[in-house]
Amino acid sequence: MPKLVFVAKDPEYIPSSISDIVNALQQAGFLGKKWQSPSSVSGERYLIGDSFLSLVTFLGCAPAIKLEPAAEQPGSTEFCHVEIEETKTSVEFIRGSDFLISRCPHCRQRHANWETIPETLLYSCDKCNVESYLSEYDWKNTAGCGRFFISLHGIYPQEAIPTSHLLQVLEKISGTAWTYFYVQ
Ligand SMILES: [Zn+2]
Repeated sequence: MPKLVFVAKDPEYIPSSISDIVNALQQAGFLGKKWQSPSSVSGERYLIGDSFLSLVTFLGCAPAIKLEPAAEQPGSTEFCHVEIEETKTSVEFIRGSDFLISRCPHCRQRHANWETIPETLLYSCDKCNVESYLSEYDWKNTAGCGRFFISLHGIYPQEAIPTSHLLQVLEKISGTAWTYFYVQ
């Protein structure tokens, strides 16, 4: 399933308390109850909350989004829900698409040819020769770098965008700014 992934702009960010993040997102109505998922489903997952549709803007004509688990398929993850992912020990680059788009933070030139991602997450721009961390590139919502990710499952790229209010809720509880990207 495709997903929309939230990540702090500071790639090293990890929360001091994940339950504080969950509580803040529940109070805002983005998260609902914990999904009592079958053991075949990994991770910490939540149903969407009461204010979900005012915190995420769906684009285009009325989407056929499934907002609840299917009663006849209790193990199916193919509906809209949120996963709080485990924190990573080091910064990871998450590729959201075969076709990444990015801009060099120094010369602002566009790079689209990312067949391989350097393991060091450092890249020397072939246009201006300045070396930057991949987390400094503007990936145009096609990829992200970080140690802590919140995934909204069931959203296709550009199908929906988070409101600035939702990003502010994350910023307020974490003390750092957030961005998002799509994984196809
Ligand atoms: Zn450059």
